[in-house]
Amino acid sequence: MQYQSTRNKNISVSSAEAIKTGLSADGGLFVPVSIPEVDIEDIELLADKSYSERAYFVLSKFLTDFTEDELRECIANAYTKEKFETENVAPVYKLNAYTYFLELWHGPTCAFKDMALQILPHLLTTSMKKTAEDKEIVILVATSGDTGKAALEGFKDVNGTRIIVFYPNNGVSEIQKLQMATQEGNNVSVAAVSGNFDDAQNGVKSIFTDEGYKALLDNNHFKLSSANSINWGRLVPQIVYYFSAYADLLKNGEISLGEAINVVVPTGNFGNILAAYYAKKMGLPIAKLICASNENNVLTDFIRTGVYNKNRLFHTTVSPSMDILISSNLERFLYDLTDKNDELIKQWMSELAQSGVYKVPQNLKDKISSLFWADYCDDNETMAAIKQCEEEYGYVVDTHTAVAKSVYDKYVCQTNDRTKTVIASTASPFKFNQSVLIALGGHQAVAGKDEFMLLEELSKKSGMKIPASLGELKGKPVIFDMVCEKEQMRQIVSDFLKIE
Ligand SMILES: *Cc1c(COP(=O)(O)O)cnc(C)c1O
Repeated sequence: MQYQSTRNKNISVSSAEAIKTGLSADGGLFVPVSIPEVDIEDIELLADKSYSERAYFVLSKFLTDFTEDELRECIANAYTKEKFETENVAPVYKLNAYTYFLELWHGPTCAFKDMALQILPHLLTTSMKKTAEDKEIVILVATSGDTGKAALEGFKDVNGTRIIVFYPNNGVSEIQKLQMATQEGNNVSVAAVSGNFDDAQNGVKSIFTDEGYKALLDNNHFKLSSANSINWGRLVPQIVYYFSAYADLLKNGEISLGEAINVVVPTGNFGNILAAYYAKKMGLPIAKLICASNENNVLTDFIRTGVYNKNRLFHTTVSPSMDILISSNLERFLYDLTDKNDELIKQWMSELAQSGVYKVPQNLKDKISSLFWADYCDDNETMAAIKQCEEEYGYVVDTHTAVAKSVYDKYVCQTNDRTKTVIASTASPFKFNQSVLIALGGHQAVAGKDEFMLLEELSKKSGMKIPASLGELKGKPVIFDMVCEKEQMRQIVSDFLKIE
């Protein structure tokens, strides 16, 4: 299976090349030339298989230039018992007769990004070998929270890689800061940047685009790479868990073979829901894809009107991982939707860059409406959904998952559609303990409490165990307490790599 760029389909590379490169040189994203199709009988066989077997089933269809041994080794290194605090990696929780949560947060950092970032480093190092690249990979990350820690955990102690994460000193939660400052591993570094997320991100971007600096790295046998969600190696592992959820529902007798389910995804960069779309295209019986947004509702408007318009107020919400105005992975969906019209994609993306707006024609808008349903909710509704879920079912969800639940409730209300539905649950409530506790017990529930008291409190309220990786933070020594200016970021990279 070859991969092409969404902005120039004449570019054709292997999957190893696509994963190694991340972004195509023309600015486009790599996509498979065709979406492999699977038989319903093969889906039936997945019911009795482990998560790793299910992962092999899906990955082997896309990463056809990897050998079976290579893929199995990548999978074995990623989805281990040590890293995922549950037997079946991504369990399905039954809420009521027609609603299920797919818990994607049992990995080491308690958010769904682990599902892809645990395997990406192995796919990447294997891709380096396969393409005879002998340099050491240096991953540079600017993070607003979840991605940085998940990337650190994924890349730590992976041979042939180093990772440096920059986070805004005043832009992440206390627990996120602690998670990063105490990071262990012999190939990792973390620095706070004074400023906001944009400062950290601009600093990283300026390193990535500095040809002189790249040449210097090159001479020292280093190659810069990125772990963000435009890399195909991050997207393809996300397709797996939709198959896994369906297989679990089959196994538990919740659905019959071939029965279509709805999927609800709390969406930011459009990566997670795009994976569900690809699963549907492959033949997984999915009826509606329900796209849930918070007040940053660019995607709701796009799906409803066909107009993508990022010119609007940016809202800081209680679901910060979805506070996004440019959903990069939408480009992959548009490419598929237009039957690979690379010229049109290029035009829309340049309109987006220049004016912040593009519009798809009516026939495509109709196609989008037949596949997706979209809505959003504000912070009050998010908080209400957490409380309601706890009161009615004794089940506590995090703020991002609550956005999905709130939007799903609107969907059922408006459509009366009682199709069995899987809601992607993207973070552990413990990771956003402050907001979750306020939702459950008001502001007095958190007053005067530090992070660890909040974890204890939430454990009491929810009856859930504190995830070991968060509880353990308490005794951990701070390893990285460096705070730098934006202008010093390059020097920090050089110092870490011992060059210049
Ligand atoms: C990243 C993230 C999302 C958004 O996922 P996308 O793939 O960017 O749409 C939702 N919830 C949580 C907890 C996240 O970390």
